[in-house]
Amino acid sequence: MSELAQLQPHVLIFPFPAQGHVNSMLKLAELLCLARINITYLVTLNFHDRLLLHTDIKSRFSKYPGFHLKTLPDGIYQGKTNTVDEVMMLYDSLRLVAKPFLRELLSSDQAQSEKSSPITSIIADGILSVALDVAEEMDVPIIYFRTISACGFWAYFCIPQLIDAGEMPFAGKDMDVTIANVTGMERLLRRRDLPSFCRVQDLGSPDFRMVLSETQKSPRAWGLIFNTFEDLEGSTLSHIRKICPNVYTIGPLHAHLKTRIQSPWTSSSNSLWEEDRSCIGWLDQQHSQTVLYVSFGSFTVVTREQLLEFWHGLVNSQVRFLWVIRPDLIPTKNDKERKSTPEELELEEVTKERGYMVGWAPQEDVLSHPAVGGFLTHSGWNSTLESVVEGVPMICWPYFADQQVNSRFVGEVWKLGLDMKDTCDRAIVEKMIRDLMVERKDEFLQRAGEMKKLARKSTEKNGSSFHNLDRLIEGIMTISI
Ligand code: UDP
Repeated sequence: MSELAQLQPHVLIFPFPAQGHVNSMLKLAELLCLARINITYLVTLNFHDRLLLHTDIKSRFSKYPGFHLKTLPDGIYQGKTNTVDEVMMLYDSLRLVAKPFLRELLSSDQAQSEKSSPITSIIADGILSVALDVAEEMDVPIIYFRTISACGFWAYFCIPQLIDAGEMPFAGKDMDVTIANVTGMERLLRRRDLPSFCRVQDLGSPDFRMVLSETQKSPRAWGLIFNTFEDLEGSTLSHIRKICPNVYTIGPLHAHLKTRIQSPWTSSSNSLWEEDRSCIGWLDQQHSQTVLYVSFGSFTVVTREQLLEFWHGLVNSQVRFLWVIRPDLIPTKNDKERKSTPEELELEEVTKERGYMVGWAPQEDVLSHPAVGGFLTHSGWNSTLESVVEGVPMICWPYFADQQVNSRFVGEVWKLGLDMKDTCDRAIVEKMIRDLMVERKDEFLQRAGEMKKLARKSTEKNGSSFHNLDRLIEGIMTISI
C-alpha cells in the first residue's frame, strides 16, 4: 500500500442490486474517483458479471487505481425481479448475506489481510439499513444515497402522518381523493399519485413495512445524497432538510460526470444489457423532433393487451416512434417463451413504416438525438432526469415506487409533459401523443428547454450540484479522519 493511499479516504459504496441503483451509484463512484478518493464498489455476483460483460467498466475505471470492484458472497436471490414479491426475496436474502460480510469487511484485520487501506466511510443505498446497522455497530461513518426523486422520498417519509390522519389505508379505492398530509404537497397529490406501495390493503404487508421503515431510518445517516438539483426540487428539499440537515443534491449525475470529466457530450451509460445501437442510424434518417421514444425502463412489465393498446395508440397517432421492447417486458412462465416483440406487431407493415423497435437502447444517446421530440416513459427517476437534461417532454405511464409521484410532478408542477397514469387505452394513448408531439408541441418544448438549461447550469462550475459535490467531498475527507 502506498503512503498516498494511506492518507486518502476509502469509501465503500454499496448499491441495491438493480439497474437504476447500480448505474447511478457507479456514476457517483466515478465522480469520487476523480477527486482521488479510494472506492470499493460492492455488488452481487450476477451484477459483477453483467458489469464486466456489458459495460466499459474495466477500461473506464482503469485510470483510477483507487477503484476496486468487490463481490458479495453467494446466497443472494438471483431470479427475476419484476414483481414486489421477487424484489422482497432479493432484499431479504441480501440483508442476510450482507450483515456478516460487512462486519468482516469493516474490521481492520480484513484490510491488513488484503493489504489495502481500511474503509473509512460508507455510502450505502438508502434502502439498505443493514449497512447502517453495521456501520453504527463498528463506528464507521455512513452516508445514504437515495436513487429516487426527492419528491418521491418525501412522500414515503410522510406515510406515518397519512396513517395517523386516517388518510391511509385506502386500498386502491376512490383514487381521485386529494391527500392533505404530505407537507408542502397539500392538494397536489391524489391517492393515485402517492407511491405505489400506498395502495396496499394491509399496512402490515412485508413490502409496505420495508419501504416505510427503510425511509424512516434516513435521519440516522450522517448525510443524504440525492440525484437531483435544487432548481427542480428545491421546495421539497427544504422540507427534507428539516429532518436530515446534511442533504447533498449533486445531480443529474450523468450530466455532472460529463462536466467533471471534461469530455465531449458523450454517453456515460453503464447499461447492464447489450445496447442495440442500430436505432441511432434509424434516428439519423428522421426529421428533427418528430420521433416519440418509448421505453419503460428495466423493471416494468406489461400485459400483452396493454402492449397492443400502446401499439394501436402509437400507430393511430401517425407519429414516428422508437420503442424499447425488452425480452422480458411481457412476463412469461419460462425463458424459452420470451420474445422481444409479439408477432403481430412485427408483421404489421405500418410498424416498419413508422416505427423502429429494439430490445434495449442506448437511452442517453437516444434522448440527446435531434430527431427525438418526446418520451413515453414509466417515469423512473433516471429516465426522468435523462429526459430533463435533454429537454425532451414526457408522457408518463408510471409502474411502481416513486414513479407515481414523479409523473404527477412532471404533469402538474414542472409542466414538462402529460401524466397518463392508471389508464391504458388506445384512444387516450393516441390523444396524448398527438397533444405532446403536435397540438401542444411548442409549449412543451419551450418549458422542457428552460428546465434543460437549469439542469445543465446546476452541474457546471458554480452551479448548485457542482458546489454540493465539492461539499460532499470535503465532508467525506472530514469524517474519514
Ligand atoms: N435504459 C437504457 N436503455 C433502455 C432502457 C433504459 O439504457 O432501453 C436505462 C436508462 O437510461 C436509465 C435506466 O436504464 O438510466 C432505467 O432507470 P430508471 O430509474 O429510469 O428506471 P428503472 O429501470 O429503475 O425502473
